[in-house]
Amino acid sequence: MSSLAARLAEFRIRLSRATQRSGRGNVGMVAVTKTVPTAIIAEAIALGLTVFGENRVQEAWPKIEALPTVEWHFIGRLQTNKVKDVVGRFQLIHSLDRWRLAEALQREAQAQNLRVSVLIQVNLGGEEQKGGISPAELQDFLSATVDLPQLQVEGLMAIPPYMTDPEEARPYFREMFRLFSDCRLPGRGMKILSMGMSNDFEVAIEEGANLIRVGSLLFGREKYSQGE
Ligand SMILES: *Cc1c(COP(=O)(O)O)cnc(C)c1O
Repeated sequence: MSSLAARLAEFRIRLSRATQRSGRGNVGMVAVTKTVPTAIIAEAIALGLTVFGENRVQEAWPKIEALPTVEWHFIGRLQTNKVKDVVGRFQLIHSLDRWRLAEALQREAQAQNLRVSVLIQVNLGGEEQKGGISPAELQDFLSATVDLPQLQVEGLMAIPPYMTDPEEARPYFREMFRLFSDCRLPGRGMKILSMGMSNDFEVAIEEGANLIRVGSLLFGREKYSQGE
């Protein structure tokens, strides 16, 4: 068994146990493949993974071209001048973090005559280096998106402050679930709550995540690292 197959098998057991503990039904998974070469992603597809996440447009493009049959999500900070390279290529954008980007996505979706599915990134910790809408602004932001008809808001995404002990992130995930449950978007469903990564996905699921984003746990960190 390859190391990827072994790590995936172990991960699947932990995922299924956490899902059972949460009692909320299915949890989806985005395999985060930044810095992971296409050949390894092809191996992951052969092992049954179907949804992949990238945070850089340039890096993602050749991978998507080589492996067009799976689902690709954009999870990184998106510059407005890259919007045209993302709309129509990624099935879900997790990182809508400002109004100007929402407008740019709407314009591009209109130009391409399609809909673009997004999650609103929430900055719960008020961390300045991370993008995102503050909880206080969330409902107004969400309501305003109703005027962007080709933008389909599917839910929320969060990256909590990094904690060595995932238990310390639990209050953060709990608060995100409360925000997710409370926010309203007339006429459209808010279905997805994307939170939890390699270090804390089990706690995130216990607190209500239904989409997790896992990279290093599956693909390792050392091997392909190009340096941040
Ligand atoms: C890299 C990344 C992940 C995956 O992180 P791991 O700790 O490697 O699982 C998830 N979400 C975002 C936004 C990322 O950039």
